[in-house]
Amino acid sequence: MNTPATGPQPIGRRGAIKALAGALSTGMLAACNGMGRPLSDAEKLSLNQSVEGKVYWLGDEAYEVARGSTCYRANKPKRYPQVIVQPLSDKDVVAAVKFAKAHGLKVTTRSGGHSWSASHIRDHCVLIDMARMQEISIDPATQTLWVNPGMIGSVINRHLEPHGLVVPTAHHPSPGIGGFCLNGGFGWNSRLWGNGARHVLAVDVVNADGELIRADATQNSDFWWAARGGGAGFFGVIVRMHLQARPRPKYWKATVYSFDNAAAVFDDVMTWACNIVPHVPPYLELVMSTTANKRETGEPCPARISIAALAITDDEAQADAALALLDSVPHREKANFKVEKVPTTLEERYQSGFKADPAGMRFAADNMYTDAPTEVLVPRLRKVFLELPTPHTHTFWFAWGPCKPFPKDMALSMQGPIFLGTYTLWEDEAQDTMMAAWPPMQMKALSDLSLGGQLNDENMLHHPQRYYTDEAWAKYEALRQKHDPQGRFEGFLGKPMPL
Ligand SMILES: Cc1cc2nc3c(=O)[nH]c(=O)nc-3n(C[C@H](O)[C@H](O)[C@H](O)COP(=O)(O)OP(=O)(O)OC[C@H]3O[C@@H](n4cnc5c(N)ncnc54)[C@H](O)[C@@H]3O)c2cc1C
Repeated sequence: MNTPATGPQPIGRRGAIKALAGALSTGMLAACNGMGRPLSDAEKLSLNQSVEGKVYWLGDEAYEVARGSTCYRANKPKRYPQVIVQPLSDKDVVAAVKFAKAHGLKVTTRSGGHSWSASHIRDHCVLIDMARMQEISIDPATQTLWVNPGMIGSVINRHLEPHGLVVPTAHHPSPGIGGFCLNGGFGWNSRLWGNGARHVLAVDVVNADGELIRADATQNSDFWWAARGGGAGFFGVIVRMHLQARPRPKYWKATVYSFDNAAAVFDDVMTWACNIVPHVPPYLELVMSTTANKRETGEPCPARISIAALAITDDEAQADAALALLDSVPHREKANFKVEKVPTTLEERYQSGFKADPAGMRFAADNMYTDAPTEVLVPRLRKVFLELPTPHTHTFWFAWGPCKPFPKDMALSMQGPIFLGTYTLWEDEAQDTMMAAWPPMQMKALSDLSLGGQLNDENMLHHPQRYYTDEAWAKYEALRQKHDPQGRFEGFLGKPMPL
């Protein structure tokens, strides 16, 4: 399977040289403290010597490779941390945060580096890249596991398979479990089991003073609450997570209908989908997506639309009954590709996710939840679904509802019955500005229909919108002030609430 490597991802020699030239042209080659004074060799040495893992200073030869490898997307942001630390232990993380504190620098953290906005790559900070800490310990008796946040979802589920267990992870193999759960997390069977955030039983965190603490429902519970869906505003570095796993369901069965001429069937199919949301059982994932490349060859083509449903359950009859919901898909007899009620596996699903968002591409994303009435929504969606700017761009509709209220013991608070996400994929650097602008432009055009956004696919830098309820946001702001009064942790890249 084409799963990318777990550790830092190489950006290639040419990419590194090019990006370093960018840094050089900005005259940012000397690492500085928080006041802009260049750090002395002795000051740098103090960090190098207190960290067992790797340290890359701005200006070091290997810096740009280390910076680029923290980020899945090929369009690396032009933002430059003062230093990148790749810890091997909790002690290294403590040392990095204490160094930041002593020198007035801010801290960001990277787990798997799949944030679409690359929110961990910021100017003038200490970037803690958790990629080298890769421990997992499973307790089959309690169906729980301890894991470092830089471990990627598909690898965790491979470790869990012999125990008959699974955790909800991203539908793509390589997002880190850390960012996935911290930002909410739509994962396998999340409509039934809840988001990734809900599976976080405890976290070990290095706080703003550089102390290692454990947080769960009974101790340091502010940190636990925020780790469950708080996103990039989290006021600490999560070094370890205790997760609830689930017994792995026996049946993974799928139905897919794909139409080559999306424009011809769009109104009927989208109307059907929006109207069926209240009837989608919790163990069924129902997705519609458009893309503009041929299924078999990947060659460019006019937008085609797929309706895909995945039933995940222990009861085969229940899976088949759920998939029978798709018997009423309009025009399904004319589908150019169809599979009905076929068994599939988690590995196959990960591969399919990888095919949609392959490594090495340039990416931008944005999203929203909506509860707009079908007749209002469908005509407004034509542009974002049908006028895709590149062959691999895809727009995605997901039936999240009927929504159950989120419990109050987590920061994750934003949801809506229909999730919409749009993702531009391109290869040519010359298209960067145009392609990066496309997703927020589409979502802003629909903002009168939006309830707010999902943090995992956020683009709040270019499209501020609501990511929390008022109640959760007020609590979060107060906790950030209480636990990180000096703003040691960089926080959101953009505005997580409407302007
Ligand atoms: C190809 C692709 C497919 C995806 N598919 C899905 C999907 O199916 N479902 C879904 O819900 N999401 C999906 N996502 C979104 C993804 O889950 C989020 O971007 C998530 O944040 C990625 O986790 P990460 O650890 O790789 O991210 P990172 O980029 O490492 O982290 C994201 C942010 O979280 C914070 N953070 C991360 N780790 C820590 C830590 N240890 N301590 C403190 N703060 C931390 C930082 O602010 C960081 O900028 C996908 C993303 C991509 C690129």
